[in-house]
Amino acid sequence: MEQGRGVACGCEKLIADDTANNLVDCLEQLRWVLWGCKAGGIREWERCPQGHEEQGQAPVTSKTADEPHTAPLPALDRIRLELSGCTRCRLHSGRTNLVFGEGSAGSGLVFVGEGPGFDEDRQGRPFVGRAGKLLDKMILAIGFERQEVYICNVVKCRPPENRAPLPDEMAACSPFLFRQIEALRPRVICALGLSAAQILLGSTRPMSQLRGEVRFWRGMPLICTYHPAYLLRSPSQKAAAWQDLKEVIKLLETAGPRLAGF
Ligand code: URA
Repeated sequence: MEQGRGVACGCEKLIADDTANNLVDCLEQLRWVLWGCKAGGIREWERCPQGHEEQGQAPVTSKTADEPHTAPLPALDRIRLELSGCTRCRLHSGRTNLVFGEGSAGSGLVFVGEGPGFDEDRQGRPFVGRAGKLLDKMILAIGFERQEVYICNVVKCRPPENRAPLPDEMAACSPFLFRQIEALRPRVICALGLSAAQILLGSTRPMSQLRGEVRFWRGMPLICTYHPAYLLRSPSQKAAAWQDLKEVIKLLETAGPRLAGF
């Protein structure tokens, strides 16, 4: 990057960190920051104020200083390991299996649901029950196989009677979800249902106000749509969900090829 021009927000430090992997990583992060700015209507940047660079303020999606540059899969493994035997909230007492998430980020697409149900708890895999069958169809409808996308939930243990997770349960578990998404760095995040949409957006607004627009989570485009379980109960909303999925396709097409990832 030419001295004295462009975005000076700490990326130079990553580039100076020498390996080619760091450079690719940095460009991938910068691409998302710029994509987020463009989508938000930002076209110009001022130079950072004096002293800002010295403090090394990180760009939106950068890793923290104490988090080494690891490939996404080892990063996910590390998070999974930290969650093993988790007792951070009351949900642990009723679980058979912790449901971490599964799939690939090769497509650049991550779906975030609410939390495991009966079947998921039994199998330790997300979205394998009735709602999961519908999600599989939704994924196929946008041109992917289930294993090509990554699927996870806000909470990793089944809430009793399939109730929605409570705020303190989501607060205990969501940092792990956030780290999962940061590790995957998808092109598009699709929040399935209100719990996922609200926790990612830090909002208490209803789904009717959250869907229908491209939003952003840490610079990554986020589409909110109805949960498949809700669509099973209210099939008349499938048309609206299809509109949301079409937006997901559009975003994936416009995001361009991935520079890095797995
Ligand atoms: N509902 C969810 O939100 N997640 C699952 O994994 C299954 C059902």
